[in-house]
Amino acid sequence: GDPSVIQEGKAEILIPESKNVFYNPVQEFNRDLSIAALTVLAKEHFQKLEEKKIEEVSNKTEMSNEIGGEVHKDGIVIIEALSATGLRSIRYAKEISGVKQVIANDISETAVKSIKENVTFNEVDSLVTVSHDDAVMLMYAHRHPSKRVHAVDLDPYGCPTQFLDAAVQCVTDGGLLLVTCTDMAVLAGNAPETCHAKYGAISLRTKACHEMGLRIILQCIETHANRYGRYIVPMLSVSADFYIRVFVKIYSGAAMCKRSTSKLSLVFQCVGCETHVFHPLGVAHKFGEKVNQYKFSLPHAPVNGVCEHCGQKFHIGGPIWNGPLHDESFVSELISITDPERFRTARRMEGVLTVIQEELPDVPLYYSVDKLFSTIRCEIMSMMLFRSALLNAGYRVSLSHASKYSIKTDAPANVVWDVVRTW
Ligand code: SAM
Repeated sequence: GDPSVIQEGKAEILIPESKNVFYNPVQEFNRDLSIAALTVLAKEHFQKLEEKKIEEVSNKTEMSNEIGGEVHKDGIVIIEALSATGLRSIRYAKEISGVKQVIANDISETAVKSIKENVTFNEVDSLVTVSHDDAVMLMYAHRHPSKRVHAVDLDPYGCPTQFLDAAVQCVTDGGLLLVTCTDMAVLAGNAPETCHAKYGAISLRTKACHEMGLRIILQCIETHANRYGRYIVPMLSVSADFYIRVFVKIYSGAAMCKRSTSKLSLVFQCVGCETHVFHPLGVAHKFGEKVNQYKFSLPHAPVNGVCEHCGQKFHIGGPIWNGPLHDESFVSELISITDPERFRTARRMEGVLTVIQEELPDVPLYYSVDKLFSTIRCEIMSMMLFRSALLNAGYRVSLSHASKYSIKTDAPANVVWDVVRTW
């Protein structure tokens, strides 16, 4: 039959009547956010080229004019490894200035046929290269440093981890890896053993499961990167609808890889009151002024068996990423380009990014206010009151974008429980 045409951003996509090719309208928010993130990346890319040019001019090298002339031709290269209809790749080509090439890949013949039709229909043949390959093989072909690309987008059905070994190798230093996970049941503690098999971490049933999922996938990307002397710096980590999406930069450096253990923690969760205790896998002590003067030590044995707040035992989950989930200036840049003229989901983007901007960066996970009060079987305190009780006691408090009744705080658990008990 005749295909139907859907419009999203500047792309018009032909969806075959047979619907054998995957298209999910609910993920427009995910695609809008990705376009914003890649716009920021492209902007940084040109800033770096300009700086290089200025440096070379001031060094008065022979090369300067030549390289200067290249700057505007030389945009970023993006691999969309699992492209389905080509929608994302076409939007990247049309909506991000400074894109040199997008490689739109899929393993399915039907999908590749659809990508080809859509690329031509949208007149982006000069920017989008269509590839019919196993995503892993395509990415391995780009793992040599001279072949690396500035960004890799992984948007699989369910779990992305089978693609990570290749993905962490084929992104340039300072390049961006964008990863979606839609297997939320696995990440949210319904199948901890499956989570361990796929992500190398035990998930827990907790009210903070969405942030826990973000920290599990970040842990997984970091450990994959470390095998190649590389490490991640998260730019933005989002929980939305029924999926999570992380945007991380990848860098190389053996010394930083040695500090990874201190960025990963086991999570002890009390089976009675759900209080979390975090234990890093290692401790990095700074001993000098230089960037990489760190000494490593093994942490001491964890909690002595029972939870001090209710006397119950702990479950052990993780390891999870315990560092920041977002980069402050990257998020500000994103907010500054979130324009309703440009993105249909701009209002939602702005809402989510604003909450994210205020999240306490150094506090992993959060309390859920309804869970705290249901644990001691008493009526729930308003979010406002609860927040001010902690603020008045001298602690920092924020929401989390990942859950409605969430409270992040640097108050120790005994202070939180005191507030709950005296209500
Ligand atoms: N990114 C798309 C979007 O935003 O509309 C959706 C991608 S869809 C969820 C996942 C796609 O991955 C499917 O089209 C499937 O054919 C493809 N795929 C699955 N395994 C693959 C592999 N090993 N290599 C390449 N493509 C693969």
